[in-house]
Amino acid sequence: MPEENFTNTLYTNDNLFILNGLNTNLVDLIYLDPPFNTKRLFSAPIGSKAAGSSFKDMWSWEDVNEAYLETLAANYPVLTRFIATVGRIHSNAMMAYLTYMAQRIVEMHRVLKDTGSLYLHCDPTASHYLKVLLDEIFGKNNFRNEITWKRNEMFVSSASKKYDVTTDIIFFYTKTNEYTYNPQFIKSKRDPSNSYKLTDENGKKYQTVLITGHKTLPSSSDNFYEYNGYTPEYGWNVAREKLIEMDKQGLLLWKNGVCKRYKKYLDARTEKVSNLWTDIITTRGKERTGYPTQKPLALLQRIIKASSNEGGIVMDPFCGCATACVAAQQLGRKWIGIDVEVNAVKILIERLSDDAGIFNDFVATKLVPQRTDIKIEPLVQTVKERLYKKQNGCCNGCGVEFEIRNLEIDHIIPKAKGGGDYCENYQLLCGSCNRIKGTRTMEYLRMKIARIESMAENKVIFGE
Ligand SMILES: [Zn+2]
Repeated sequence: MPEENFTNTLYTNDNLFILNGLNTNLVDLIYLDPPFNTKRLFSAPIGSKAAGSSFKDMWSWEDVNEAYLETLAANYPVLTRFIATVGRIHSNAMMAYLTYMAQRIVEMHRVLKDTGSLYLHCDPTASHYLKVLLDEIFGKNNFRNEITWKRNEMFVSSASKKYDVTTDIIFFYTKTNEYTYNPQFIKSKRDPSNSYKLTDENGKKYQTVLITGHKTLPSSSDNFYEYNGYTPEYGWNVAREKLIEMDKQGLLLWKNGVCKRYKKYLDARTEKVSNLWTDIITTRGKERTGYPTQKPLALLQRIIKASSNEGGIVMDPFCGCATACVAAQQLGRKWIGIDVEVNAVKILIERLSDDAGIFNDFVATKLVPQRTDIKIEPLVQTVKERLYKKQNGCCNGCGVEFEIRNLEIDHIIPKAKGGGDYCENYQLLCGSCNRIKGTRTMEYLRMKIARIESMAENKVIFGE
C-alpha cells in the first residue's frame, strides 16, 4: 500500500496472519509487549475497564502455528535447534513460547523498513532466550541496547527469599546500520547550583567553562581552526558551526582577541537519556484501563520520539489496551495495532475515541490484508507449467513422475492457515498426495507417505 493512502488500522485477528499479509519495508517502528511466559492466568479486576478480558500467559504447542514450523526450520535451522535445546534446559512451555515468538519476529523483521527499529518489552522470565532469538533474526550487530525500566518507586514486600523485582527489560534492535534515532533529554536531577556562582546582568546564574583544549587534553585534529583571528594552541572543543552559533548568542568570553572560556547557564542542564530509565512511573489514575500489564504513555512516547519521525508508521502487534496507538496518534505518527482478543478490541475502540476524541480516523477490521508488493499469480496454465518444470515432472509428495494433467496445484501453507496466493507457496501434487495432505502441512504428508511405503515394503516381504 502506498504510504500516502495509509489508514490507521486496528486488526482483530491472529497477529501472525496479519503480519504475513503486510508488505515488506512498511513500518518505521515496532514496539511489542508480548504476554510473558509466566504460567499465570492474568485477568483484569472486576469493574475495571478491562474486566472480562483475560489473556492467557501460559504456553503449549496449540499456540504454535504448525503450518509455519517448516518454514522456520528451513530458514532458521540454527535457531530451531536452539529452541529445541531450551526445551530440554527449561521446559516444553518455554520451547512453545519461543517458537510462537520466533514465527512472529521473523515477519516483524520483514515488514520493518531498512531504517526501522524494534523494541521488545519483556521480563527476566524469558528475556535471555528472547535475546538469542533477536540476535539470530536481526543479526547480532543490529543489537543496540538493553534498556532497564524501573517500574515501581515504592517498595514491594515479598514473602520469597530473594530481592524484589522492580524492573523490566526492553531490547532495542534496528534492521540495519542506517536507522532513525533522535536522542532524548531529561532535566538533570543532580543539583548543579553550587557550581553556578556567577550572575549575569539579567540575574541568571552561570559558570565559565573551558572552550579550548589544553596541554594535557588537546582537541581532536579537526578542531584546530582559526576563528575571529584566533587559533587556540590546543584547538577548540567544538566544531566551527557550533562555535559560530555560541558566538551569536554572546556566550564566548573574548579578552584581547583571545577566547578561552564560555558562559554555561544553569537552565541548560539536561542530560541525555541513557539505557537506565527511572523517571517513568507505572500507570496510575485516569490513564489506567484495568489491564494488569498496561504500560504508561510516557514510556511509549519516549520510544516513539527516539526511533521514529512525524508521519512515520508505528506498529504494536500485541496492542492490548492500545497505549502505543494512543501515543503514536498524539505524536503525529500513523499506526497499526493488532490484537486477537475481541474484548480487548472493544476497550481499545472505547479508549481511542474517549481519551482523544479526535481518534476516529482509524479502521477496525478482522480481515487479513493482502500483500501488494509481490505478484499474486492467477492459477493459470503457465504457473502450472513452470512448477512442472521446476519439479522435473514429479509429484512433490511421493516423488513419482506424472503427466502434467495428472498433477494438481496445492498451497504449501494452506490458505486456511494464512498461506498466501503467490508462487513461492504453490507446488504440484498427484491426486492421491493432494487428498492425503488436504489442508494439513507437508510434514504430515511426508509422515503419511513414509508409513504407506513401509507398509508396502512389509507386504512384499510377506508375499515372498
Ligand atoms: Zn504423489
